[in-house]
Amino acid sequence: MIKRERVIATEEAFAVADVEAERGRTGSAPRALLAELLDVGEGRLATMDAAGVDVQVLSLASPGVQDLDDDPAVALAAVANDRLAAAIAAHPTRFAGLAAVAPQVPDAAATELERAVRKLGLNGVLINSHTRGEYLDDARYWPILQAAEALNVPLYLHPRDPGSTLAGPALNVPGFRVGWGFTVETGTHALRLISAGVFDRFPRLQIVLGHLGEALPFLIHRLDERFSFERKANPKIRAKRFPSEYLRENFHYTTSGMNTAAPVQAVIELVGLERLMFAVDYPFEDQRAAVDGLRRMPLTDVARRTIMETNALRVFGFRH
Ligand code: MN
Repeated sequence: MIKRERVIATEEAFAVADVEAERGRTGSAPRALLAELLDVGEGRLATMDAAGVDVQVLSLASPGVQDLDDDPAVALAAVANDRLAAAIAAHPTRFAGLAAVAPQVPDAAATELERAVRKLGLNGVLINSHTRGEYLDDARYWPILQAAEALNVPLYLHPRDPGSTLAGPALNVPGFRVGWGFTVETGTHALRLISAGVFDRFPRLQIVLGHLGEALPFLIHRLDERFSFERKANPKIRAKRFPSEYLRENFHYTTSGMNTAAPVQAVIELVGLERLMFAVDYPFEDQRAAVDGLRRMPLTDVARRTIMETNALRVFGFRH
């Protein structure tokens, strides 16, 4: 019997008690599913085994430390990364991880990213979209982007509630806070990076977007067409190339929360099989449903393995 592909899930959340305590101190609402998030040991492994998930790429649950004051945010990012490295060391064939950083102190964030990759062996960095209503296209944050490019690790741009500069009553549609609000927030962030010329400045930088790219792949031709028209008259546009070129060369996409065949096949056609990876979004989404969803899709065995295993090994630079 041919062994099935190894299933690597790439957007899987965990929590750290010290971070939760600081969030509580600053008045954050208690987190749903906290027990599941805090468990990076046997309980979590049992749920992975039951669902057929071999490896989780772990990241600190949104919004990470990005809502905390500067000093605790910097300190707790390091605490979270140490906790993550310890969990991976205890189960090196089952976990990999993305570093948390405090973008509100950009130089410290870049330094922590370097420590997390070089000293702790983490596989990239995850940032939960805006920090205090600011986006990474602001040059003040570019030391973080420069570090990610220099270290050759991806930056997972993960959703959160829309920032104060974007959100208004109209975007707060009852029932669609996550399904649409997070998508608009995070897709807008990605387009800001493109427009500002981030990928002309950092051409090897790789961004990972969940939820099949926060709808951007589906808009790729319209984005190109309108961009080429607006570029003629708007000197604020710094990007030198077409949006589609960045979306195909500087971005990867994961399937988190998107377990049906039609949009997955569209993303393969629009941006390429080599750009797509499997993700669940545990514990907020069901692992079994995600694995079964991928298994049921009319994909070739090679395509399925590329999405569930091969691309993640390459993009996140696994050593095991
Ligand atoms: Mn998520």
